[in-house]
Amino acid sequence: TAKAEGKNTHRFFAPALEEALNRRRDMEIDLAKALEAGEFEPFFQPIVDVRTRMVTGFEALLRWRHPTRGLVPPGEFIPFAEEIGLIGAMGEWVLRRACEMAAGWPLPLKVSVNISPRQVRSRGLVNTVMNALAATGLPASRLELEVTESVLLEEDEDTVATLMQLRALGVRFAMDDFGTGYSSLRSLRAFPFDRLKIDQSFVRNMATTAESLAIVTSIIDLAESLGMATTAEGVETAEQFDMLRRAGCVEIQGFYFGRPRPNDSVPEVLQGFGMTWDAAAIAPMPAP
Ligand code: C2E
Ligand code: MG
Ligand code: MG
Ligand code: MG
Repeated sequence: TAKAEGKNTHRFFAPALEEALNRRRDMEIDLAKALEAGEFEPFFQPIVDVRTRMVTGFEALLRWRHPTRGLVPPGEFIPFAEEIGLIGAMGEWVLRRACEMAAGWPLPLKVSVNISPRQVRSRGLVNTVMNALAATGLPASRLELEVTESVLLEEDEDTVATLMQLRALGVRFAMDDFGTGYSSLRSLRAFPFDRLKIDQSFVRNMATTAESLAIVTSIIDLAESLGMATTAEGVETAEQFDMLRRAGCVEIQGFYFGRPRPNDSVPEVLQGFGMTWDAAAIAPMPAP
């Protein structure tokens, strides 16, 4: 009967809902504590120039070294951090730490840091960035901020003003996951990006579907005609690298050239690319 079913439904859902709420509450507590306890750590993935095959910089990708769960990827906690309003503090911390680490690299390469839409919309991003640069000594020209097109969804004047002020400092901007939103082209008009990052979903299917290759080629041509550089994400094979090279892509990022790894491994990664430096010229890393 309906009544019996209703009862069953009730019995089935209540514990599940309670469990979900408990998990969420635990997560909130865990995240705030983890930030204080220093359990977060940016990893770094090399970005490689297609023509020279040299590393031009690294993207900082946040990891949570959880005491029992091991290494937790950002997809599992960034959305929560956004929801519970912790993204501001977390984002400020990542930015500072990534700049600090980049300032200690043996070569003056670029560091790319992801900025969430909430961070851009909250006032104070300009100050946060200025403070991070001043505190770490990283030149603004070595910092690139990655934002998704959703940041510019409403062509909000304050948002554009924030980006323009940062641009005036010498900071560069990349539009992340280009082509996955529904306002991609419009957001290009709202703000002049320095770079488009071609989403890995297009790269993944490039070799098997003509449509994906056509989209990738068009994005590269579009970027070029608007004076922007391109970085293809998620490049895993030599075949993909070759197709992107022929299409005129400027930079490549993906497991083919290296996975995200801890900051300690940056010198080793660079040596793997045959990149050398004068050890005497390396500035010591500031104390944490
Ligand atoms: P994203 O910025 O688009 O970063 C690229 C993602 O693709 C990274 O995932 C990277 O590990 C992964 N990836 C790179 N090369 C390959 C490849 O060849 N194959 C495959 N399958 N994947 C590849 P990750 O590290 O899990 O980060 C996921 C997303 O989390 C990022 O996407 C970014 O949107 C967000 N995120 C990461 N760190 C931060 C952060 O510090 N702040 C904010 N707000 N978001 C972050
Ligand atoms: Mg990114
Ligand atoms: Mg991306
Ligand atoms: Mg992505």
